[in-house]
Amino acid sequence: MILTVTMNPSIDMAYPVKHLEIDTVNRVANVRKTAGGKGLNVSRVIALMNRPITATGVLGGYFGQYIEHQLDLTHIAHSFTHIDQETRNSIAILHDDGDQTELLEAGPVLTAEDTAAFLKHFESLLESADIITISGSLPGGLPTDFYAQMIAIADQHHVKVLLDASGEALKAGIAADIKPLLIKPNETELAALLHTPVDKHNYPALKQHLSSPVFAGVEWIVVSLGAAGAFVKHNTDFYKVTIPKINVVNPVGSGDSTTAGLAMALEAGEDDATVMKTAMTTGMLNTMEAETGFVNPDLFDEYFAKVTVEKF
Ligand code: ADP
Repeated sequence: MILTVTMNPSIDMAYPVKHLEIDTVNRVANVRKTAGGKGLNVSRVIALMNRPITATGVLGGYFGQYIEHQLDLTHIAHSFTHIDQETRNSIAILHDDGDQTELLEAGPVLTAEDTAAFLKHFESLLESADIITISGSLPGGLPTDFYAQMIAIADQHHVKVLLDASGEALKAGIAADIKPLLIKPNETELAALLHTPVDKHNYPALKQHLSSPVFAGVEWIVVSLGAAGAFVKHNTDFYKVTIPKINVVNPVGSGDSTTAGLAMALEAGEDDATVMKTAMTTGMLNTMEAETGFVNPDLFDEYFAKVTVEKF
């Protein structure tokens, strides 16, 4: 079973408006509300691909119950720790011209009791987990090395972790003694970790960046490059992964769908090429759908066959 972790989930509300008028009333006809947070996108894609998954993390209040209800409706198994505060909302105002204005609540601040209860629950779930994904931001009240702590606990149970975080949480996650199996930094995150500008189209430079001692001990580094595919390091091997040109409908959540593909293939013990092709395919399939973190499994084989992997 794949265990997905979302520490700071949210109800994602999409408000399409023609033009947002300031200091007056804006009426919204077609509001969409979904169970959000990067880890829940990962969960949805794995479930749509018909692979066993359990979603965990922290939920609270009526908004937390709403998320659990949405997960039930979409047949996603879940086992969250409940806290005595409301889960947050994230609002995306979708402008007619394609611009997007986001209002993201910080969310609950966890108490020491909440944190201890979650870690105890997390450890109990490790008994049945083969691999773990940890995605997204940390809620308030948790130390920046919280993901590093989770990785160390998982390691005691011989379970590997894919870490898709950013900022201080990612930095602490790769600096700790026990490393994640895989990280998926983008250009901005690489630049922040290495304190240097990063040009994602310059593959020789990327190869050098990924060889930095900062990443020592991290087995897989996957730098996804949107329409350009990905550049990947696995142990001492480097790969350039190329994808076909496709009709993009909504790229939001592609990175999370890529994480879902990585977890699926790594759990199944696939070879390097299959791991990367699976990840690119789930990423591409997500861009072809209007809904965020959604894939059509019937198209998987067709697009998988179009991905190429070359040693670099
Ligand atoms: P993130 O959402 O983390 O920024 P990317 O934009 O790199 O991640 O997308 C992840 C993966 O999704 C890509 O490696 C690719 O497989 C697919 N993808 C994303 N955008 C496109 C696009 N415009 N055309 C084709 N595939 C895409």
